[in-house]
Amino acid sequence: MGKKIQAVKGMNDLLPVEQKDWPITSAYWQAFETVVNEWAQQYAYQFIRTPIIESTGLFVRSIGEETDVVGKEMYTFDDYGDSLSLRPEGTASCLRAVVEHNLLYNGPMKLWYMGPMFRHEKPQKGRYRQFHQAGFEALGYSQPDVDAEMIVMTADLWERLGVLDKVQLQINTLGIPEERAAHRAALVAYLQQHEAVLDEDSKRRMHTNPLRVLDTKNPDLQEIANHAPRLLDYLGEESLNHYQQFKALLDAVGIVYVENPRLVRGLDYYNKTVFEWVTSELGSQGTICGGGRYDGLIESLGGKEAPAIGFAMGIERLLLLVQQIGVLKVENNLDVFVMYQGEGTMQQAVINAQILRQAGLSVSQYSGTQSLKAQMKKADGSGARFAVIIGESEVTEGVVTLKDLRGDNGQIQIVSTQLTSQLQQWMA
Ligand code: ATP
Ligand code: MG
Repeated sequence: MGKKIQAVKGMNDLLPVEQKDWPITSAYWQAFETVVNEWAQQYAYQFIRTPIIESTGLFVRSIGEETDVVGKEMYTFDDYGDSLSLRPEGTASCLRAVVEHNLLYNGPMKLWYMGPMFRHEKPQKGRYRQFHQAGFEALGYSQPDVDAEMIVMTADLWERLGVLDKVQLQINTLGIPEERAAHRAALVAYLQQHEAVLDEDSKRRMHTNPLRVLDTKNPDLQEIANHAPRLLDYLGEESLNHYQQFKALLDAVGIVYVENPRLVRGLDYYNKTVFEWVTSELGSQGTICGGGRYDGLIESLGGKEAPAIGFAMGIERLLLLVQQIGVLKVENNLDVFVMYQGEGTMQQAVINAQILRQAGLSVSQYSGTQSLKAQMKKADGSGARFAVIIGESEVTEGVVTLKDLRGDNGQIQIVSTQLTSQLQQWMA
């Protein structure tokens, strides 16, 4: 026997059955996809799918060279002389496609995507090397109403999934690049005064991405972070106004939020509104969804200037939360379980199963290698509403046995030509 080969660490299988450290089944995942599809349609977002591999330069230019995502988490490889990367997030690819195909020629657009992302991180609960995001991008929209719409729509999804009261909305504003530059200068000067007590991470970030120092989880640095110059004090009227209007809209629709001046997000392209939905139910990987404005990004990728905002949710984290405390109904849609056993029965099974499928029913045809008794157990466990039983006596008499597994119609023998109409009558 050959040695077993295992999946790559941090990259998981999605199976029809629950796994030891992973309670989410493929049926559960698909039920979620159905909910998301309907929900996205209701908010008039159109679906887009881009390749999972892009030129490395796309991510370097958009996400930023000094970010953790690009600096140390990206899967990059040489493709016969070209540097390519597995996408670590979806916005860059989406915008690359939008610019390449000139999708905004006719005005703003709302797009969404769903699929795998790749980051070389330390695998743990809620943090994987291949994970999945559903991401939403509103492109060409400058006003705070679309910022608020994104909050309303995510809150609506949490409500549909029964987790709204276990998640908290945190918001902040990052202003515009000029305001951030002024604040950055003051912040770096402040951090330099305290350089002696900073940890290694913060010393490095002080020069590459000083805002991230404020985001430090190191308890010894909380005091320093708390007293650092606040970005809010450097914002101009336009930025403040946008933020005020955003908050007023949230108030108007009854959305509860917490202002977190330290919320900066891990990617460079954000400006003005940023937000995260966090939960304390999942341990340390508590952010299920994050997003913000990126008004300059489309232009920096070679497109015509177009203000925009987007967010992405981590599907694994969200489903772990839903599984733990929420509601997501997995429908069992199997109508009929066809079983057969004995001489000449296989052919009848194939013919009858197909008759039923052509009538629109979902039909599982089992294996005749087991006894009818064993197959009946499988039928019970399958969730099918009805069983069609074909043994040798049925073949001899030219009939099939039809059994109601869940209701009180009992068991009858009928000819194949009446099978469909009889079932439809029972199902009505
Ligand atoms: P975190 O701070 O938890 O690392 P992030 O800021 O890196 O998150 P984003 O880039 O904003 O995450 O991605 C959006 C969402 O994707 C996150 O809120 C999270 O739910 C999910 N996510 C990010 N990285 C992972 C991962 N390695 N495994 C599973 N989900 C992830
Ligand atoms: Mg991260």
